[in-house]
This record gives sequence, C-alpha cells and structure tokens, in this order.
Amino acid sequence: MKKLPFVCTILCAAALLICCAFLGYHYNDLNGRYQELETEAFHLQEDNSDLNTQLESDARQLKNEKAELEEKEKYIEGQKDYISELSKQLQAKTEDNEEDDEAYYDSEDDPYPDLYANKSEDDEKEEKYVYLTFDDGPSDLTPKVLDLLDQYDAKATFFVVCKNNEDCSEYLSEIVKRGHTLALHSYSHNYSLIYQSVDAFLSDYEKVYNWVYEETGYSPCLFRFPGGSTNGSSAVTNNIIKEMERRGFTYYDWNVSSGDGSNLTTTSNIIDNICSNVDNMENPVVLMHDGKGKHATLSALPTVLQKLADKGYTFRALDDTLEPVQFR
Ligand code: ZN
Repeated sequence: MKKLPFVCTILCAAALLICCAFLGYHYNDLNGRYQELETEAFHLQEDNSDLNTQLESDARQLKNEKAELEEKEKYIEGQKDYISELSKQLQAKTEDNEEDDEAYYDSEDDPYPDLYANKSEDDEKEEKYVYLTFDDGPSDLTPKVLDLLDQYDAKATFFVVCKNNEDCSEYLSEIVKRGHTLALHSYSHNYSLIYQSVDAFLSDYEKVYNWVYEETGYSPCLFRFPGGSTNGSSAVTNNIIKEMERRGFTYYDWNVSSGDGSNLTTTSNIIDNICSNVDNMENPVVLMHDGKGKHATLSALPTVLQKLADKGYTFRALDDTLEPVQFR
C-alpha cells in the first residue's frame, strides 16, 4: 500500500511530461506559423509599396495627359472661333453681293415700263478681244497658220526662236507684212543656259534680236521668256526683268494655255483647253505653238478660230498699249 503514492507520483509526472511535450510541440508549430505570416506580411508590404509607386506614376501620366487635352481643347475652341468669324465674314459678303445683284424693280412690277434709254445696238454690244500667241516658230507650219488667220481676218502675235529655224527666216517678214506682231522668244531656247545670269540672257537675246532685225528691218519690243517668266530662278529673272525693262522691252506671259506644249496632247484637247477658258479672262492671251512638229495645233486652229468668232471674239495682236499679262 506504501507503493500507491509513489505510483501516483510517477503517473502524474508522466502525465505532466506528456502535457509539456504536447504544449512544446504546439508552441513550435505556432512559432513556425507566426514566422511564415511575418514573411508573408513583409512581401505584402513590398508589393504594396510597388503598387503605390506604380499608382503615383500613373497619376502623374494622367495629369500630363489631362493638361495636354486641355491644351488641345483650347486650340480647338480657338479654331472654332476663327471658323465662326470666317463664316460670318462669308455670310456678310454673300449678303452684300446678293444686295448688289438685286435690282430695285424687276421687269414684272416695274411701275415705269417705258422709261429706258434707247441705246443703239452697237453701244449695247460689248467688244470682246482674244490674243492668240504662237511660240517657238517660224517653221514650215507658220505659212499655213498665217493663211488660216487671214481667213478669219485674225491678228496674232509670234514669239520667235532663231536656233534650228534659220531655214524658215523668210516667214519673219511675212508675219510683219500680214499685220501680226513679231516678238522675240529666244535665240537658243536653252533654259539652263539663258537663266544662268543677266549676261547669259542678254547675250542670247541679242542674237535673236539681230537675226530678226537683219531679216525684217523691224525691232521688236515685246518678248516672252522661254517657259514663262517663272521658269528661271527668281533672283536672276528679277534682275533680267529689271534690265530688259530698262532697255524698253516688255515681256508677256499668258492666261490661257492651249496645252500644246506637250507632245501627248490631241487636237480636241487643244480646242477644249482654249474654248472653255477664254471666257474666264477679261483679256485672254492664249499660248499656242507654231514650232516644228506642232501639227495638232495647226489642226485645232480652224475650229478654234470658228468657235471663238461665233462667240463674238475679235482676234487681236498684242501691242505695248495693252496691260501685259505677267506671272511675276
Ligand atoms: Zn518656247
């Protein structure tokens, strides 16, 4: 019986040990879990910080984009104001024009139907002139052009080139004799040569001037720049113009092109180009060519003459009393 307290003590000690072992085990487990959570919390904190940086950068970008949009909005508003200003101006002009066009009385409700000036027919008829010009001749086509012009009692202007046309020199006098204007174009018609300098131009011009003077005894005072007055460089051409005008020469460009400069053109194109554009000009100066090979122009000429005559045009040669058509 004396052993019973001892056994109880042993059992209690064993139970205590088991409890301690159990608690120790759980403590370790909880500790591990705690550390895991701590690591996880650390990572989460890191992620959170990255996220914050990203959010800040996005916010900055949005702010910039907003500023840009505001800037664009302002620009569009400005343009809207400008467009609305233009529309107002346009409307005002249209209204002005409408007012200008409107007659005070129209013929139906005119209370003074017989009160009109009794003008003669000649006064009423408005004179219309067209100035046909032929460049790059004379050639074997020139006498045919001259004959056609005669048929319509038409006068024209011939801007002549010397080089390669010497065999047609005899037509120069014929041009003058038939009442047309003989004018100068170029000796060589070589763009890269004549537009190099004022001297290069004058030296070329002097040759064609002398040729015409020797052949006809006539000194032309009108000329046309090869390719037109905008063909050379502005600086050189401005000086050429100044120098030529100082010498009393006047240059003429054109305001209606027949399009016959291109070898791909056709007779009907030439007719259309001329006849559909002369009415748009107050003093139509028509560019055509009577140089070698310009057969399409020669074929177009009778129809052009007939159509323009039907429209009431008189064909005149250029002279220095007419305000010249000039590109520059
Ligand atoms: Zn030419």
